[in-house]
Amino acid sequence: MSTIHPPEHHFQGRPADHGGHGTAGAGPDVVVVGAGVIGLTTGVCLAESGWRVQLLTRSAPAGTTSAVASAMIGPSFGDPSDPETVRARVGIAEFTELAARGDTGVVLRRGRLAARGDASPLPGLTACAPADLPDGFAGGSWARLPLVDMPVYLDHLVGRLHAAGGRIVETEVRSLAELAEYTPRIVHCAGLGARELVGDPQLRPVRGQQVVVENPGLDEFFISAPFEPDWTAYWPHPGHVVLGGSQDDGGTTEPDPVLADRIRARCIAVEPRLATARVLAHQVGLRPVRSAVRLEVEMIGGARCVHNYGHGGTGVTTSWGSAREAVALLVDDPVGQPSISR
Ligand SMILES: Cc1cc2nc3c(=O)[nH]c(=O)nc-3n(C[C@H](O)[C@H](O)[C@H](O)COP(=O)(O)OP(=O)(O)OC[C@H]3O[C@@H](n4cnc5c(N)ncnc54)[C@H](O)[C@@H]3O)c2cc1C
Repeated sequence: MSTIHPPEHHFQGRPADHGGHGTAGAGPDVVVVGAGVIGLTTGVCLAESGWRVQLLTRSAPAGTTSAVASAMIGPSFGDPSDPETVRARVGIAEFTELAARGDTGVVLRRGRLAARGDASPLPGLTACAPADLPDGFAGGSWARLPLVDMPVYLDHLVGRLHAAGGRIVETEVRSLAELAEYTPRIVHCAGLGARELVGDPQLRPVRGQQVVVENPGLDEFFISAPFEPDWTAYWPHPGHVVLGGSQDDGGTTEPDPVLADRIRARCIAVEPRLATARVLAHQVGLRPVRSAVRLEVEMIGGARCVHNYGHGGTGVTTSWGSAREAVALLVDDPVGQPSISR
């Protein structure tokens, strides 16, 4: 098994070590590309199983798409044999447990999923009474779901990774083939970055904009469903509320002030207490949308590479399920087992 640390000249810029321990004098067993929610969760699963893990990332976790996700976990009504449904259900269970811990950025909140048109109650949920519904909504259901304060949650994942001996190095990976010369195993979690790294023509950015405001005392979420290109949603966190939602093709991460006004107006129409809430931030993220998540093995040179990218608008929800599948694909490993116990 190779334990060669990838050399600095293979990266653009000077790697900045973001901590971690337990790997002194030894190279990693696995290099994970990406430190968004997919790379971090995969790194945590590997490191907590005993692998020596190094994450290489162009941007710090706080600068990723994952950091601006809303992020609501579930619900999931899909076909139970569909891999996406399986991943979502793994995520709902895992985030529900994380909410019980209290220090992870995850909380369980009650809220309404309301529809303007088709008003059939959603399977397994309690139908809203007519008095529960805002003007213009024909029906809806009450749900209790995990909501994730992403900056806090990403810090939680970084803490777990470091506690298990994993390391994060901030650097650009230019080529998986070059990386494969120095490590026997790669997990590729570059999100939209996969467009350049593997030239995947199926991957495209879908822009989402949100307004973050002070929390005027809300503890229930609201989301209009099924989604239209612009829908109405607000998700309360302890100190703030995230207002959404939007989706459009386009690559700019510059906030659009007209769209921001529309998002606020729609949310205020449902929850008038938001009218006086001070605006704290405008956020834009580009969802890495693909016809299906790419979760498969590719041999690159002598290295086993597991691709784990293309999670679109549900990457937080499906992060734990995807990470465990990626680990399973890596463990079925012809290049040898890690040198420390798992
Ligand atoms: C507005 C908005 C709201 C959302 N709400 C929800 C929600 O409610 N629930 C939900 O489940 N999901 C939600 N999502 C979707 C979710 O945010 C994404 O699916 C998820 O963040 C994708 O994670 P990722 O780790 O694949 O990508 P990213 O977070 O983009 O991370 C990619 C990583 O790869 C690194 N990278 C890329 N290229 C290179 C390279 N060449 N070299 C080194 N590093 C590289 C980047 O620096 C980064 O660290 C939302 C998204 C948006 C935009």
